[in-house]
Amino acid sequence: MGNVLIIGAGGVGSVAAHKCAQINGVFSRITLASRTLEKCRGIQKDIHENTGRLIDIAQVDADNVPETVSLIKKVKPDVVINVALPYQDLSIMEACLEAGVNYIDTANYEPKDVPKFEYSWQWAYHERFRKKGIMAVLGCGFDPGVSNAYCAYAQRNIYDEIRTIDIVDCNAGSHGHPFATNFNPEINIREITQNGKYWESGRWIETKPMEISVDFDYPEVGPRKSYLLFHEELESLVRHIKGLQRIRFWMTFSENYLTHLRVLQNVGMTRVDEVEFEGKKIVPIRFLKALLPDPASLAPNYTGKTAIGCVFDGIKNGKRKKIFIYNICDHAECYKEVKAQAVSYTAGVPPVIGAMMIIQGKWKGQGVFNVEQLEPEPFMEMLNKHGLPWQQVEFRSSILEQ
Ligand code: NDP
Repeated sequence: MGNVLIIGAGGVGSVAAHKCAQINGVFSRITLASRTLEKCRGIQKDIHENTGRLIDIAQVDADNVPETVSLIKKVKPDVVINVALPYQDLSIMEACLEAGVNYIDTANYEPKDVPKFEYSWQWAYHERFRKKGIMAVLGCGFDPGVSNAYCAYAQRNIYDEIRTIDIVDCNAGSHGHPFATNFNPEINIREITQNGKYWESGRWIETKPMEISVDFDYPEVGPRKSYLLFHEELESLVRHIKGLQRIRFWMTFSENYLTHLRVLQNVGMTRVDEVEFEGKKIVPIRFLKALLPDPASLAPNYTGKTAIGCVFDGIKNGKRKKIFIYNICDHAECYKEVKAQAVSYTAGVPPVIGAMMIIQGKWKGQGVFNVEQLEPEPFMEMLNKHGLPWQQVEFRSSILEQ
């Protein structure tokens, strides 16, 4: 029986804590810690009402390594699930190293003052984790996370050679607000206002933000305009999927969302540097975060579905084969189950399954790993059982061919 420490009591952390409590027989002790104890207390109460289980809670500032080490040493978890913000990744990894405990997160490290995300900072920890005899699993949310597992599964079980991968991410839900983001607004806006980037024939090709789009026909949702973005899993998949010729990432945005975003950018509200305001220094994007709805608060009235998956094109037994592996998730169903919307749900369930894989010894290793380096089959079997079932279909459309 496992002991898990979850750090971060936002939308994703709440789902992770609920799921751990639901999965009987795996997590005998669950501790939820965050900067604001009150948020942990609210989640503790909901879980108690839903499942009858009383999880432990704690206050921690995860930017502070000694404070985090002392919490980890007190709780003695088998694994720490980091669902705070990407800014805390390195300090929580440091704390896990010092305490000798396995680590999982869902988003790669970003420095606060530069809107840049890449794996180099976290990959640099490989030797130290290896020497300590523990494992860190990076990017174990939905995308990155489940998307990486789909790629590993396709490589091991379906193809002799994968030539192209297109990861497609659609949220066709409706929350009733004129403008809101589905996960932490600061992280979300920093991600999508960067230049787009994809990989082809051995090199990275950069585009302007939202410069390239296609109308992709999503199952159970229908056609949606999808924009090419850079997303962190491209960086690791290029390393680990053999023979790959091209990989891209697409995400849907409504016209309304893009118009709001353009205005916010044009007036400087998405800036990440400090500006002087009435004698104080403020960071505009953080001020904007304070004004926007908390993503977790969108859940009660959210309707519609998310559809996220990978389109593969490649060769099997000398013949060309195109398939699509995907998941559909319903916002209202997620709310009924764990009081969350589907974006928090799809990101919060996979790190729990990842923690289960480590506790049960199905994912073993010493060092720092991306999800596609670990066995996809037991992970995907558990996704089917615990709320994120996947489908595999032949893919006939030519929409992604150039
Ligand atoms: P939220 O902003 O809702 O929650 C983040 C939580 O982390 C808050 O409760 C916050 O505390 C806490 N936190 C922030 N700083 C610290 C700190 N120094 N010490 C302790 N706790 C801290 O974000 P989400 O739940 O929406 O997202 C969580 C993570 O999940 C993000 O990293 C995001 O990028 C990732 N994600 C990954 C996805 C995937 O598919 N891979 C998809 C969606 C999200 P406080 O309340 O006090 O501010």
